[in-house]
Parts: sequence; structure tokens; C-alpha cells
Amino acid sequence: MLLCRFDADRLGLVEGDRVRDVTPALGILPAHTYPLPRFDPLIANLDAVMRCIRDLLPGAPSVPLADVSLLSPVANPGKIIAAPVNYLKHLDEARNDAQIHHRNQVGEIQRVGVFLKATSSLVGQDEGVAVKHADRRNDHEAEVVVVIGKRGRDIPAARAGEYIAGYCVGLDMTTRGPEERSLRKSIDSYTVLGPWLATPDEVGDPGNLGFWLTVNGQPRQRANTRDLVLGIPQLIELASSFYTLHPGDLLFTGTPEGVGPVEPGDVIEVEVERVGRMVVSVRSAAGEPA
Ligand code: MN
Repeated sequence: MLLCRFDADRLGLVEGDRVRDVTPALGILPAHTYPLPRFDPLIANLDAVMRCIRDLLPGAPSVPLADVSLLSPVANPGKIIAAPVNYLKHLDEARNDAQIHHRNQVGEIQRVGVFLKATSSLVGQDEGVAVKHADRRNDHEAEVVVVIGKRGRDIPAARAGEYIAGYCVGLDMTTRGPEERSLRKSIDSYTVLGPWLATPDEVGDPGNLGFWLTVNGQPRQRANTRDLVLGIPQLIELASSFYTLHPGDLLFTGTPEGVGPVEPGDVIEVEVERVGRMVVSVRSAAGEPA
């Protein structure tokens, strides 16, 4: 299934160039009261939601995909985990370009581990990216994103697949500079997730996913997850040896070589094979209401 969130918090099933509106399936989610859970209730109940969607489908209204506004397919992730340099060619690129490394030490992922991005930075494709510090370099980073499906810690790589709810296309937008990654990569709208959640049966082997990114139609990044330094199972093993993973947690798996700047007015397109393609507009944050 390709599950999307669209317009005013509606739930959809993507079929070709149409979206079936299956919003009533959200009605089976348990009502939460304060304090709210630190996981995403939709992902935590995904199997039951999908059963409900199958029941609703015969009568579900259909709208053109082009007419809807796509939100982040996961609304309330408890945390956004991200791999820093996880493709060897990007490691070389980052070490050789002072505009990228800013005298920060760029180390192998085995040594530096993973980092966190603020959940407040998360948007869907149609919310777009608002460039905040326009006088600095703001780069696109195309990434394959794993959505964690169930709670676990100390997960061995061999069992990582059991903990995956699905996959998304991601943009780990980054202001270059000397500060900590968690600051530079957590600006509002600097985590784009979309266009929908592709369940594992749609995707097959996540260790062989081609993906590419263009800016205004110009090719910038092209890679395959088979070239990851730490593959998805190893990343889940590493992250879960530090944090308990919860349903809805996001894992950005790292970007390949070809990162580069974007500016207001640019349009970023990024596609992951068997997952989907998202189109993201870039604007200036200047003058937007606080
Ligand atoms: Mn990244």
C-alpha cells in the first residue's frame, strides 16, 4: 500500500494518479489523553488501519493526486534519527570541500554514529522548504527514509526487517556552517518526508533502491542504497543499541555525493525507486508570520 496524508489531515490510499479517501479508517485509533504518547498512533496501529482501509475501499471516494496537498506521511514521529556521512563518495566530497565541512571533523559513521533532527522541522512535500539563513549555503540531501513500525531496542541487524513499517522519500535540508548538525538541520521545514508511506511489500529489497535528485530539472544526485556504508539493518542495530525505537520513528539513512545549494524559487525533485517521487518548492522564510 501507498498511504498518504493530505489536505486537512485526511488519510489516502494512492492508486496510480488518484487518491482514494479512506479518512474514516482513522476512527479506529485509540483516543489519547494528556500526556500524549511518544510514538505515532497511526503507525503503531498500522495493521488494523490497513484492514479498515480494505473494508472501506469499495465505497471510498477518489480524487486526482494532482489536486491534493500532501502532508508528511507520519504526523507525530517521536524522534527523527539521521545518518551523517553514509556513502563513501560523499565522505570524500565533504572532506575535500571547505564549504561543506567548515573545519568540522567529518568522520566515518562507524565512529561518529547517528544524530537527531528536531521533530518540529518536519513537513510534507506540499508544505515546501523555507530557507532561513539565505546568506549561508543551504543544501539538499536526498535520502531514503525508513519508518519504524514497532517498539524495540538492541535489535540485531538480522531481525531489523521485522521493525520496518515502510519507506519514504526524504530531504535532509542542511545549512552549512560550523555549528552542530542538530542545529543546522532542524530549522523549520528542513526535514521533508513524502510523498507517502510505501509498505515493505511495495518496496522489496531496501538494499537495492536507486534514487536521484534534480534541482530545476538539473541532475544533482544519483545513487543506490547498495552503496550505503552501513545498510538499513546495520543502522537499525546501531540506533537501537542507544535508543529504544518506537512506532513512527524516522530513520534518514544518509545522502550520497552531489549535495549542493538551493535558493528561493528553486524546485527540488527527488525519486526513490519503488517508493515514489516528490516535488518540493523552495521559498524564503523571510517575512513569513512567526
Ligand atoms: Mn543527511
